[in-house]
Amino acid sequence: MVTMKNNIIRGKCVDISSEGKGVIKTVYGVIFVDALLLGEEAEIEVTYARKGVAYGKIVKLITKSPDRIQPLCPVSTACGGCVFQNASYEYELRYKKHKVEETLKRIGHLENIKVNDVIGMDDPSHYRNKIQVPFGKENKHVIYGFYKSNTHKIIPIKECNIEDKKAGPILKEIASLMEEFHIDPYNEDYRTGIIRHVLIRTSISTSEIMVVFVSNVDTFPGRNNFIKELVNRCPQISTIIFNVNKRDTNVILGENEKTLYGKGFITDEILGLKFNISSKSFFQVNPIQVQKLYGSALEYANLSKKDTVLDAYAGVCTIGLLAAPHVKHVTSVELVKSAVINGRNNAKLNNINNIDIIEDDCTLYINKRLPKFDVVIMDPPRKGSTPEFLNALLKIKPSRIIYISCDVSTLARDLEYLVKDYNITTIQPVDMFPRSFHVETICALSIKGQM
Ligand code: SAH
Repeated sequence: MVTMKNNIIRGKCVDISSEGKGVIKTVYGVIFVDALLLGEEAEIEVTYARKGVAYGKIVKLITKSPDRIQPLCPVSTACGGCVFQNASYEYELRYKKHKVEETLKRIGHLENIKVNDVIGMDDPSHYRNKIQVPFGKENKHVIYGFYKSNTHKIIPIKECNIEDKKAGPILKEIASLMEEFHIDPYNEDYRTGIIRHVLIRTSISTSEIMVVFVSNVDTFPGRNNFIKELVNRCPQISTIIFNVNKRDTNVILGENEKTLYGKGFITDEILGLKFNISSKSFFQVNPIQVQKLYGSALEYANLSKKDTVLDAYAGVCTIGLLAAPHVKHVTSVELVKSAVINGRNNAKLNNINNIDIIEDDCTLYINKRLPKFDVVIMDPPRKGSTPEFLNALLKIKPSRIIYISCDVSTLARDLEYLVKDYNITTIQPVDMFPRSFHVETICALSIKGQM
C-alpha cells in the first residue's frame, strides 16, 4: 500500500535494485531508496524524480527488518561505497544470489538454472589491499578521507571498515607529518598545494606495504627529510613512490614516478604463486576471496596434463599462470602492453615455461589462426565479451569454457550466445566486494553432445 502526503510517501520495500537500493512501487512510478531493506515499510522523502524513476531517503522507518543492523561505519550513507553497511552479511549474500538468478532469467532468458550459494567471507571486513585517499584542508588542518558520492568534497574518515587495518595508522602519520613539514594538500580550485592523493597497497602473504604519493609538482623542498621521517615513524612501510600527476582528470595516477624508498614494488601470493605488484599493476583488491575465486574456477575447469588452455582477457595472466602447472600448455592473450609485460615477468618469477603470453585482441588472435584448445578461460572487463569473440569461440569449439564475470548482466547477455552449443554446468557467485552491490560470478560450460 502506498500513500502520499506532503511529498512524503509511505511504502513497503518489495525488491532490491541491481545497485542494492530498496525498491518501492507506487502509482507514480518506482522509487529507489537508500538503505531500505526488503520487507521494510517506511516514510520516504523523494530526493530526485524524473520520467517515472525516483530516488528517495528514509525519513521514518515503520517496520524494521530482522536483518537490519547498526551501521558499521559512521559515514556509510555519505560515502556511498558500502550500500550494505546496515544489513546482516547473510542478507547481503542472499541478495547477491538472488541478483544472479534474476539477471540470468531477465537478461539471458535462462530458465531453470541452478545458482550455487554465494561464496562469502568468514569476516567481511578490512579486506581491501588497495586504498586511494584524497587529501585536503579543513580549518587549517590536513584532512583525508573519501569523496562524498558524486562530488569532490572530502569526508574525513579515520578508519574505513573495508580497508586493510594497516593503512589507517600510516595515513594518520602522513597527515600529521604534512602539518609539521608545512606540506599542503592540493587545492583543486586554486591549483595550489602539493599532495593530491595517497595510495597504499598491502600484501597479505609478505606483509609488505607500498605508499604512493600522488603530487601535482615534480618535487618539493624537504622531500627527502619528509620521507626519512615517515619511514622512521612507520618502519612497516617497505617502499615509497612519488608519482606526478598534473592533469585535471579523474585518473589518480600520472605517467611519471620515482621510487624514493625501497624496491618500488611489493610481492603477494595467490595459491602459492608470487606476483610482483607495482603502483599501477592490476591486482584483485580482495586477496582472501581471490584464492577462492580462482581456486574454484580451476576446479570447474577440471584440468589435466593433456589439456591446452586459452586464457583470454588475461590481464597480468594470474589465471593462466595458476592453470599452467596443471596442464600441457597455456596461451594468454591480453590487449594492454603493460599488463603483458607484468604477466611475462610473473611467469619468470615463478619459473613457469609452458605459457605463451601474447599481446593481441583475443578475437583477432582466434580468427587469425583458428587454434585448438581444450579449455578456454575468459575474464572480460565489466562490459563483458563481444558477439565477435563469442562467435570465434563457437568456431574453435573448446570442450570446456570457464567464464569469470564481474557484471552478471553482461554475463547473462553473453551466455545467450553460448547456450546454443554449450551446457551450463555450474554457476558459482563469489563475493569479492563485501558491503558493495558488486558480485563476481564463475560460469562453467561444457560442449553439448560430449561426456
Ligand atoms: N584475470 C585478469 C584480469 C582481467 S581484467 C587478471 O587477473 O589479471 C580484463 C582484461 O581484459 C583487461 O586487462 C583488459 O585490458 C583486457 N581486454 C579487454 N578487451 C580485450 C580484448 N579485446 N582482447 C584482449 N584483452 C582484452
